[in-house]
Amino acid sequence: MIYIIKIYGIVQGVGFRPFVYEKARDFKIRGSVQNIGGAVVIDCLGERENIKQFIFNVIKRPPSIAKIERVECTLIKKDLSTISCLDENKFIIKENIDKKFVIKESVEQNNEMRFVSPDIAVCDECLEDIRSKGNLRYKYAFTNCTQCGPRYSIIKALPYDRQNTTMKDFSMCDECKDEYENPLSRRFHAQPNCCENCGPKLFLTNNHGEQIKCEDPIKETISLIEEGKILAIKGIGGFHLVCDGRNEQAINLLRSRKQRKDKPLALMAKDIGVIKEICYISDKEEEVISSNKRPIVILKKKYPFVLPEAIAPKQNSLGVMFPYTPLHYLLFNEKLDLLVMTSGNISSMPMEYKNEAALEHLNTVADYFLMNDREIYVQVDDSVVKVIGQVEKVIRGSRGYRPYSLKTGVEK
Ligand SMILES: [Zn+2]
Ligand SMILES: [Zn+2]
Repeated sequence: MIYIIKIYGIVQGVGFRPFVYEKARDFKIRGSVQNIGGAVVIDCLGERENIKQFIFNVIKRPPSIAKIERVECTLIKKDLSTISCLDENKFIIKENIDKKFVIKESVEQNNEMRFVSPDIAVCDECLEDIRSKGNLRYKYAFTNCTQCGPRYSIIKALPYDRQNTTMKDFSMCDECKDEYENPLSRRFHAQPNCCENCGPKLFLTNNHGEQIKCEDPIKETISLIEEGKILAIKGIGGFHLVCDGRNEQAINLLRSRKQRKDKPLALMAKDIGVIKEICYISDKEEEVISSNKRPIVILKKKYPFVLPEAIAPKQNSLGVMFPYTPLHYLLFNEKLDLLVMTSGNISSMPMEYKNEAALEHLNTVADYFLMNDREIYVQVDDSVVKVIGQVEKVIRGSRGYRPYSLKTGVEK
């Protein structure tokens, strides 16, 4: 039996083809997998029952950040000459029918339905990379793979290829290129793939935009935060204003400079232990806060409250999140375990996301700026959710939750 399966949704740049390749090998299916337009197309040859099991496995448990919207499955009769509507696929079948299972080059197609993945929090394997001495990405703030990293915030046009993202200006070094081209690597076709040698770089400036000479901008940033300074830090979707979450003076200073009287400030906690010290958290809340969407979750304050009241005056709840980029993880240490992480804007203006504009608009609030040379193309706020009973209620759906919307055609 020969089947052609077309899968639509967030299926490109998320490790879908290597995943299908492995499953095909498990089930001893012959054929190929290929990106055609906005879809993943699998052609497969094998026993009917075996193919059914293979398809079931692919669809039921796809890679964690993939989102399948629609599947089309077509049975091709043995006599290919009778098929008139699948000319393009006939070629694929004829070419691969005697081979094992292969991953093929992408084919572009206009006017296809397109889905764009939201930005996804750093995955456990990438975290392991940045924590392992000797690893190519040890302490590298822009580490990512097909299972994590920026997407929506860096995409300038579709299809989602590196040249259509703000990673276009960074050409991959040989090691990154090898991973990018290796179907068995989790960085196979990870469009923002990069390392210290070839990717974006961090730099620290004062609030006049003058660069602070230092060997390690992250280490220097930590020292400044520990001294009680306020930093503007460029994240995945924009700037945050950041200070030590346990330093009352710094928090009061941030409030007065930002002219934010008593609206609660969001916190970023190093780990679950820190959260449990200050809030009550149910299993469901823990599941949501740790998900790869990493939203701010509104949690009930624990009394006696051990943090400065100025974080959320007269409130019974706190907005808390976990780190979600490699940079965030690198900002924490033994002593520094809680950060105020509020949107980098003044009064009701939108969050800043461009280096120059941030310097211009936030220089009366932040003492220093930790920036980088990768452009954020689309500004993305942190999402805010609340768990009611067992139900996650999205109060502000942004990073991690949006888009997932349908885009049509190729936007150039
Ligand atoms: Zn990863
Ligand atoms: Zn590299």
